[in-house]
Amino acid sequence: MLDILPQVRGRYTFDDLLSKHVWFRVGGAADVMFRPADLDDLIFFLKEKPSDLEVLTLGMGSNVLIRDKGLKGVVVRLARGFAECYIQEDKLIAGAGTLDRNVAFMAAKAGISGFEFLATIPGTIGGALKMNAGCYDSEIKDILLWVKAVDLQGNLKTYTVEELNYSYRKCGLTERVIFVEACFKASEHKPAKEIYEKIEKFLAQRELTQPTRTKTGGSTFKNPEGKKAWELIDQVGGRGLSFGGACFSEKHCNFLINTGTATAADIETLGELVRQRVFSQLGIELQWEIMRLGEA
Ligand SMILES: Cc1cc2nc3c(=O)[nH]c(=O)nc-3n(C[C@H](O)[C@H](O)[C@H](O)COP(=O)(O)OP(=O)(O)OC[C@H]3O[C@@H](n4cnc5c(N)ncnc54)[C@H](O)[C@@H]3O)c2cc1C
Repeated sequence: MLDILPQVRGRYTFDDLLSKHVWFRVGGAADVMFRPADLDDLIFFLKEKPSDLEVLTLGMGSNVLIRDKGLKGVVVRLARGFAECYIQEDKLIAGAGTLDRNVAFMAAKAGISGFEFLATIPGTIGGALKMNAGCYDSEIKDILLWVKAVDLQGNLKTYTVEELNYSYRKCGLTERVIFVEACFKASEHKPAKEIYEKIEKFLAQRELTQPTRTKTGGSTFKNPEGKKAWELIDQVGGRGLSFGGACFSEKHCNFLINTGTATAADIETLGELVRQRVFSQLGIELQWEIMRLGEA
């Protein structure tokens, strides 16, 4: 593999076990993990790599289920070279490798409101851009102005929020890209104390209602129009239901959990079982919010 990979400044690791890098703590290995040194390094890699090499991006792995056979090709992980975050006049610019919570706390310190919800989402800005992450009545699209992204041929592009065609937990961009930077509106000024209090309230609320300290992937299914996925799961007896080392949380039954011994197959099988129950008993087709990646 090393022979066909471009000579980058960043780091390659081989046969890298993805269960070490994702929240669920399951999943096979990536043939190669690439941590680019910076944007130029990423662009160089994409331009020089063999055109048929598969490339996939991972952030904190908080919304993915990596299947047990792992991922073919190269998994790109944006780290230090993509974690810069700063405020410029009425805009906040963040690298795609920045943690959502760091962005929220930076905005709070500067007395800028609108980012509080991000403090409770355990991912990176890149993952949030891809998933249109949101909670407590806010979504990333509400505060976003534009993003910079690189396509898989190494062309750097800028997209406005309108061009990303966002909807609930979905980025509508048809082209496959790696997000590298985002620019947000930072014009809503409030006393920092008020902003910190709102963050504390959100964090406490989440702690109370969700199994945040477990091996999970967050909400398993999207909420169908006008309904709550957890209520449907509850109605078909999904709360606490288990299979192998996987179970649906007692605390919040739209969360699948690895109790410690689960395989990715256990988690996916249990999810599918409940999805089928909801369909056969309630006639509603739940859609996975968690991204299931790799060979089934
Ligand atoms: C306890 C818990 C609570 C959660 N609560 C919420 C919540 O309230 N609201 C919510 O929306 N989500 C929630 N999630 C899900 C998850 O945190 C978000 O979707 C988050 O935005 C994913 O970010 P990530 O960096 O972990 O992305 P990953 O999980 O690593 O990846 C998710 C997807 O984004 C893609 N991706 C990642 N980085 C990039 C990039 N730079 N360019 C292009 N594509 C990229 C990946 O290929 C994958 O398809 C929760 C998860 C957990 C574990």
